[in-house]
Amino acid sequence: ATWNPSVVRLCLWHLKRAVKTKLGQPKSDPVYNPFQAQHEFPFIRTDFAPVVNAPIRETGLLTTVEQRERILELMGSHYNRHALIPNGETFSSNTAIHQDSTRQMYEYCLEHNLRHAWAYLYRNWYTIIHYKRWAKSGVDNMIPIGKTTMLIEAHWKVMKRTHLYHYNRARLDLLTYVVLEHYYRKLKMKYQSTVVHRQKTALFEKTFIAEWHKADRAEVSGISYATNLNQWVCGCVAFLHSPLALCKHLVKAYQASNQLHVIARMVFIQRSQTPPFIRILPTIHPNPYHPGSHPQEELRPGPPLRRPRGVHSVNNDEEELTFPG
Ligand SMILES: [Zn+2]
Ligand SMILES: [Zn+2]
Repeated sequence: ATWNPSVVRLCLWHLKRAVKTKLGQPKSDPVYNPFQAQHEFPFIRTDFAPVVNAPIRETGLLTTVEQRERILELMGSHYNRHALIPNGETFSSNTAIHQDSTRQMYEYCLEHNLRHAWAYLYRNWYTIIHYKRWAKSGVDNMIPIGKTTMLIEAHWKVMKRTHLYHYNRARLDLLTYVVLEHYYRKLKMKYQSTVVHRQKTALFEKTFIAEWHKADRAEVSGISYATNLNQWVCGCVAFLHSPLALCKHLVKAYQASNQLHVIARMVFIQRSQTPPFIRILPTIHPNPYHPGSHPQEELRPGPPLRRPRGVHSVNNDEEELTFPG
């Protein structure tokens, strides 16, 4: 098999869990070279470092609960920032975002005298090699939308619970058979009916449209956030953190521009890794905006049979279909 060059990135959920765990542990002698850190970020003071091999070791936990929360909040915004998204009304390069984010974290640690926490955060997260593995701004010109770990975990969950629940350690030939004859067939049917034939609404679309209506009803303050429909970006905080690439400013701007009405299945919502991050396209049968088997109009399958109520809650294959750009 061939693999396209890809970057495996950590998701925010796992990142936060790892950082939270570590920052709640007792202080120990960390490996930290303040001169090396200063070489990478000139604003770092070399005297701001944990005292190692001291006769009396610093005790206590790395941070307090409140400090931990603030650090995670900062990392959440460092995770999402990107050169393609304005911050308020200004755009910064990815290099500048890395510098700014590191400085913000450093200054927080300096202000609260968190020497051990800083050593850990620098070494494991903010130095360029590590930073590129989690921050979206570690990749130029595009913003990843797929979450590899989540997709793989969801895949195995369905395999184990729906298709292999009788087999604890399935043999490889059985596994191959199940993948091809059961799982793949189901996935293909789901993909065809959701994406190609537009007979079912994907979870992503349901969530998107619910958020859309909420945003449509919300009040706006009138502050300018460089909202841009053609690029589908906004400099507000809500857009920065939205997993749907949505905020009330974009919704209002879209509604004012008098385009298609956003109604489930009447439009096709296409996500992309490059601007515009969302395109709202008219529904056409079969959907030409995605790969898939597109039979002639008269050969289209009938509407899907509804599953009996109750079966639904036990079943685990309701994972969101992803829409690669
Ligand atoms: Zn994860
Ligand atoms: Zn906005």
